[in-house]
Amino acid sequence: MDIAANITAIRERISVICNSCGRDPGQVRLVAVSKKKPTADIEAAIAAGQPVFGESYVQECVAKIDAVQGAAEWHFIGALQSNKVKYLRGKVAMIHSVDRLSLAKEIDRQWGKHKDCVDILIQINLGEEASKAGTTLAQAVELVRQVAPLRHVRIRGLMALPPWYDDPEHVRPYFRQLKQLAEQIAALDLPNVSMQELSMGMSHDFEVAIEEGATLVRVGTAIFGAR
Ligand SMILES: *Cc1c(COP(=O)(O)O)cnc(C)c1O
Repeated sequence: MDIAANITAIRERISVICNSCGRDPGQVRLVAVSKKKPTADIEAAIAAGQPVFGESYVQECVAKIDAVQGAAEWHFIGALQSNKVKYLRGKVAMIHSVDRLSLAKEIDRQWGKHKDCVDILIQINLGEEASKAGTTLAQAVELVRQVAPLRHVRIRGLMALPPWYDDPEHVRPYFRQLKQLAEQIAALDLPNVSMQELSMGMSHDFEVAIEEGATLVRVGTAIFGAR
């Protein structure tokens, strides 16, 4: 697995798709999803110039952050239990998977201990799949309203993990829905709420996600190989 070559190829694809849909490639950040991959792979990606990594499991995430030598920004993207939030405090720059008020309150409490603040995204379960985390489209606005007043979290946008289809074109309507929801929430002009970030798109569908407005694409397999 040539991680450096894979990163170069993904960057090139991001650039090509941005040019074709009139977006600035600088507005799309690649989050290299390194879950279940060894720290040596992360070091190789850092050496290739990759600055941002996503992890899905708390223990693994913390162990890697502590072990990796190179400078990196860490995002937590997986299902998160409230009792594990404390382990992430001060270590991650963004949590993509906030889907309930109780979790947001615990993040607020933990970051508040150090009078610190963390960027979060509200995760939406667009397909309302039982197997996936995320609040529903119907409840999203209410959740954003409830989380907004918390002083140690900053809502930066939305995240989704839409249903899987072999053909990424079938995922497009979900990406579009997330963008529309973000616009709807942005129009409410709530204090402490920004809808600048849209975390959507993975190895097989990030190009479609970028066409629909993704600002953070979470790519694992296409960089590090199959898990
Ligand atoms: C694993 C994972 C990814 C990366 O998926 P790939 O298909 O390997 O690119 C993206 N987002 C989330 C939330 C994940 O858990």
